[in-house]
Parts: sequence; C-alpha cells; structure tokens
Amino acid sequence: MTPTDEAAAPRIAIVTGGARGIGAAIARRLAADGLVVAVLDLEEAACAGTVDAIRAAGGAAMAIGADVSDEAGVVAAVDRVVSGLGVPTVLINNAGITRDNLLHKMTVSDWDAVGAVHLRGCFLMCRETQRHMVPARFGRIVNLSSVSALGNRGQANYSAAKAGVQGLTKTLAVELGRFGITVNAIAPGFIDTDMTAATAARMGMDFEEVKRRGAEQIPVGRVGQPEDIAHLASYLVSEGSGFVSGQVVYAAGGPTG
Ligand code: NAP
Repeated sequence: MTPTDEAAAPRIAIVTGGARGIGAAIARRLAADGLVVAVLDLEEAACAGTVDAIRAAGGAAMAIGADVSDEAGVVAAVDRVVSGLGVPTVLINNAGITRDNLLHKMTVSDWDAVGAVHLRGCFLMCRETQRHMVPARFGRIVNLSSVSALGNRGQANYSAAKAGVQGLTKTLAVELGRFGITVNAIAPGFIDTDMTAATAARMGMDFEEVKRRGAEQIPVGRVGQPEDIAHLASYLVSEGSGFVSGQVVYAAGGPTG
C-alpha cells in the first residue's frame, strides 16, 4: 500500500480495554496516526471519553461494548466493527484485569478470571479478526504481555496468563506470517495507570510513594506512562514494520527479559 492509498483507505483498528489507561493512549495514538479506531471495552458507555478525545482531535472512532472473554460477544463485536467501520486489519489486545494473591490464598475464580480475560480473550479476538486479515493479506496484531511473565510474587494467575500470551504471540506469528500478518507482544514494566494505582491501594500504600520508589529501580529513572506504550504500538502496527514478527518487546525503562 502506498501512502496515497493509505490516505484514501485508512486502516481499521480494534483496541480492547480502550476506555482508559494504556488502551486509551494506544487508541488515541493510532487515531492520530490516521487509523480509524474501534474502542472496545466492557461497557460501551465507558469508551465515550476515548472516542470523544479522538474525535475532538480530528480522528475517527467508534465505541464497542464487549467482554473479550465471551465467544459470542467477541463475534458480535467484530461484526459490528465490520458493518460500522469496515474490515479490521489492526488488533491491539490490551484488555486486562488483576486478581493478585499469594498462591495459598488464590481462589480458582481468581485464577480463571485472569486467564479468561488475558489469554482466552486474546485468543478469541485474534481468531475472529484473522478471518478478515487473511483475505486482506495484511494484519498487525499486538498483544499486551507484561514483565510479570518473568515471575512476580502474588501474581501466579497474571504471570501465567502473560507468559501464555507470549507463546500465543509466537505461534500466531508462525501461522499467519504467510498472509502478511505480523503478531508481536509488548511487555510493559511499571506504567502509571489505574491498574497500578489499584494495586498500591490494595497494599495500603501511597501511589505517589510507590511510583517514586519504583522509579529508583528503573534504569531510565522514571516509571512509564501509557504514551510510552502507545509509541511502541504505533511502530508495531505501522506499514513498514512487516519484517518484525513473533517478538516480545520489553518496554520497562531498561533490561528485563
Ligand atoms: P487498566 O487501566 O485497568 O485498563 C484495563 C481496561 O481493560 C479497563 O478499561 C477494563 O474495563 C478493560 N477490561 C477488563 N476486562 C475486560 C474484558 N473482559 N473485556 C473488555 N475489556 C475489559 O489497565 P492498564 O494498566 O491500562 O493495562 C492495560 C494492559 O496492559 C493490560 O493487559 C495489563 O495487564 C497490561 N500491563 C499493564 C501494566 C501497568 O503497569 N499498568 C504493566 C504491564 C502490563 P473496566 O474498567 O470495566 O474493568
């Protein structure tokens, strides 16, 4: 596709968990890059802030309410994107939850809930969108993993799911590469979002203090912002990134994996 063609027919992207945090930043960035963005989150109304921000900046976006762990809901959501915006050829699997606890206190529902959103949700969204990417002979899938995939106290469920996302990413890169589809994972470190704020609150700690202490451990001397991850996602979905696939890129302010 030439830049002229691209201007005539912008890519359609789906960003899951796009109502806030990293997903909202990625949605805004892809829209600023010229893509049309389906902002997907559990509650359609919760997507309004992201959609309004995109439109106010001159971009195009649509809100979609869906649970990524629900097979029928995912099928219906992707159908809505196709009928409302067009064929999606960019997918950002970002929706996520945490249910942290030490192993001996972790319930089966905590285990299942985290696996369902991160791993099953990622699988379902990839499977449903590749139906459109394969005929288009183009696709860009970016899955959100985490440094926690390498092991993190109190996160057996989350760590296992995020490691699973890395395996899924590499396998899909192998399977889908011949169709012009790349599949990569971003593994962020400490990012300043509601998710990390909630973790601090659960531990009874002041979030500003947690960020200050976290920054001391990070080589670049600061915690990450959602826009740091959006910048990397922007590259990984770009037209020119077609020879980079099956990679896990750690975005953590310094070496990890
Ligand atoms: P966040 O602020 O908690 O946002 C996550 C979004 O996902 C929320 O809007 C949430 O909706 C939505 N969501 C949850 N379950 C969903 C489902 N079943 N279907 C659709 N949407 C769902 O999280 P974040 O910090 O931006 O994290 C985004 C991603 O990056 C996650 O995959 C996370 O694991 C990963 N990550 C984050 C960090 C970090 O430091 N923040 C580090 C490494 C990796 P509700 O508000 O309705 O729950």
